[in-house]
Amino acid sequence: MFTKILIANRGEIACRVAATARRMGIRTVAVYSDADAQALHVRQCDTALPIGGSAASESYLRGEAIIAAALASGAQAVHPGYGFLSENADFAQACWDAGLVFIGPPPAAMRAMGLKAESKQLMGRAGVPLVPGYHGADQGAALLQREADRIGYPVLIKASAGGGGKGMRIVEAPGDFAAALASCQREAVSSFANGAVLIEKYVQRPRHIEVQIFGDSHGNCVHLFERDCSVQRRHQKVLEEAPAPGMTQALRAQMGAAAVAAARAVDYVGAGTVEFIVAQTGYDQPDSMQFFFMEMNTRLQVEHPVTEAITGLDLVEWQLRVASGEPLPLRQEQLQISGHAIEARICAEEPDKNFLPAVGPLAVFRTPDCARFAPGAVRMDSGVGAGDCISPFYDPMIAKLIVHGSTREEALARMDAALAQTHIAGVANNVQFLRHVIATPAFAGAALDTALIARESDRLFGQDAVGAHRAVLSAVAQLLRQERALETADPFSRRDGWQSHGETVRCLEWVYADAPLTACLHYGHDCTCRVRLADETHAIQIDQGDAPFALRIRWGTQEWRADVDGMDGLVHVFTPQGATSIRRADPLAQRQAQAPHGGLQAPMPGKVLQMLVRVGEPVVAGQTLALMEAMKMEHSIRAPFAGVVAELLYASGAQVAEGAALLRLDPA
Ligand code: ADP
Repeated sequence: MFTKILIANRGEIACRVAATARRMGIRTVAVYSDADAQALHVRQCDTALPIGGSAASESYLRGEAIIAAALASGAQAVHPGYGFLSENADFAQACWDAGLVFIGPPPAAMRAMGLKAESKQLMGRAGVPLVPGYHGADQGAALLQREADRIGYPVLIKASAGGGGKGMRIVEAPGDFAAALASCQREAVSSFANGAVLIEKYVQRPRHIEVQIFGDSHGNCVHLFERDCSVQRRHQKVLEEAPAPGMTQALRAQMGAAAVAAARAVDYVGAGTVEFIVAQTGYDQPDSMQFFFMEMNTRLQVEHPVTEAITGLDLVEWQLRVASGEPLPLRQEQLQISGHAIEARICAEEPDKNFLPAVGPLAVFRTPDCARFAPGAVRMDSGVGAGDCISPFYDPMIAKLIVHGSTREEALARMDAALAQTHIAGVANNVQFLRHVIATPAFAGAALDTALIARESDRLFGQDAVGAHRAVLSAVAQLLRQERALETADPFSRRDGWQSHGETVRCLEWVYADAPLTACLHYGHDCTCRVRLADETHAIQIDQGDAPFALRIRWGTQEWRADVDGMDGLVHVFTPQGATSIRRADPLAQRQAQAPHGGLQAPMPGKVLQMLVRVGEPVVAGQTLALMEAMKMEHSIRAPFAGVVAELLYASGAQVAEGAALLRLDPA
C-alpha cells in the first residue's frame, strides 16, 4: 500500500479522499490554486503545494504542475478525484511516465471510453444495447441533418467529448436542427476544445440508471449494483439514489452483466460507472424497462456515497487497494444491498432563475448534527465551511447530503429532516428546492424520470413554505431578543422606548417578496410586547428553542420554531417547514434598485463569448444580444425592451465582473 498520495483535486472530493487515506494511515498531499489557499481541503491534508492561478486552466488542469508537486512531495500515487483531469488519458499516462501510480483506469481504457461516439461503437461491438443514433466521424452539417431526419424527432445532439450535460440540445422538429447544431458545436468547442457531436433518438420520459463497476489488475470485475440518477436539472443530476426503485432482480442482473461486459471490453481496472438510459412505458411495470448504454465514466462519481451507504463499503479504499495492486476485496456473490440511500446535491444556484449558478460568501452554513440521527444514517460531504466563499472559478456545489434508511420511506424522511437542519445564507442555494422536490407525490411515490422537475414545476418554483407573517414575526422576535440581551436593569438605558406608564408604539417596515409590510410593536409597561401585523394584534412570546432552531415563538394561537440570522438589513429565517429571507425597508436601497440597468449586465463574473448586435442596430424585446460564459455555462443576455443598440461596452472574449453593464440600449 502507498504511504503518501497526492490528491489532484479540490472541494468535497479532495476532503473525501483525504478522509479515507487518513483512516488507512496514508499521508496526503493537497494542491491548491490561489483562490483555494485557505480552502478546507488544504487544511485537511498533511501537506499542501500551490499549483497556480485561480482559474482551473491555470491550476487544477495543469497536469505538469501537479506531477511536479507529486514528485517534489514524495507521493507515490495521484488520486484525480472527479472532474478536472480525472478522465484525461494524457494526464494518466504522464503520471505513469513520471513513475507515479495514477489511481484510476489504464490510459487505454480511458481513451476507449473518452469519446461518447467511439465508446458507443465499441459497446455496440461488445453486444451492449445502444440507443438508435448516429455516432459517425463525418460531421458535415447536411449529413448530420439527414441522420437526424432518419432517426426521427425528437433527437438529442450531444458533444462527443462532452460531460456535465454541456452542449446537449433537444431538437423537436427538422427546422430547428441547424440552429441547435451550431449552438451545441459552439459550446462543445468552448468547453471541450472539440466540436464533434453525435445524434441520438431522444428517449421520452426516460430514467437514468447507472451501474457502479470495479475491476482489478488480476482480471476480476464486479458490479456494485445500480444508482438511479433520474432527477436532473439542465441534464445534471440533483438527487441520486440506490437501489433504483422498482428494479427487479432479473433486470439488475442483466444491467450488471452488461456493465461488467462494457468494463471487460476495455480491460478496465479501478472504479467506473456505466450509465444507461432506461425507457419505460409505466412506472408500475418494471419488466417493461428497456435499457441502453449511454456512456462510461472512468472515475469515481459524485454520487458514489449512495453505493457506499447500501453496500457498507468505502469505494475510495477499494480504489487505493486496486491501484496498489491488490485484488478486489470481495467477489460478486459476497456483495449485498442493505436498505436504501439518497443523495442530494446542495448547490449555490437560483432554482427560480433557471438554476443560475450563484457566487458569494457562506455567511451562514450550519449542517445537521449527524450524531442526532441513527449511526450512519446521515452523512454530509462538503469542501467548504462557514465563512468560505463560493467562487466563480469552480463548480457551485456546496455539499452533498447522503441519507440511509432501512426503506426508501425512512431515507426520505431523514432527507427532509436533514435538509431542514441545513441552514445556508449569504449565497443563493437549492436547499428549499430540494425539500420541495422530495415532497412531490411523484418523487415520494418513486415515479421517477428525467423530466420530473419540469413536470412538477408548479410545486417546485416560487414556493414559500414560511409565509410573510412568520418571516416578519421571526425577524421581529430576533430583534427583540437581541435588544433584551443588551438591556440592563436601568430603565433609562433601554432601547425599546419603554416608559414608566402608558404604551410606546414602534413601527418597523419590512419588504417581503417585493411587498411592503409593517409590524408595530406595542410595549406595555409590564414588559410585554404585542405585535400588530396586518389587522391582527397579539402578544409575542419568545423562548429558547432546541438546536438547530434557537427560538420558540408564539403569536396569538400560532407557535413555531425558528433560527434567525441577520446581516446588512437582510434577515434569514429558517424554520422546520422551510427557509426564507426578509429585508428591513431601506429607502436608499430601494432607489438604487430602481436605477435602470435594463437587464443588460453580466449575471455573474465570466467571459463575453460573442456580441450578437452592432451599434445602431434596432432590436426587439427578448432578442439575444450577447452570449456569456460563466461558471461553465452559456448565458444569453436578452433585450429587456425594444430599442436601438447605443453602445457596446465590451468586446467578444472580454472578462467581465458580476453586474458589469455589457451594452447600452436606447428605448425605441
Ligand atoms: P453528460 O456526459 O454530458 O452528463 P450524458 O450522455 O451522460 O451526458 O447524458 C446526461 C443526461 O441527459 C442523461 O442522464 C439523461 O437525462 C439525458 N439524456 C442523455 N441521452 C438521452 C437520450 N438519448 N434521450 C433522452 N435523454 C437523454
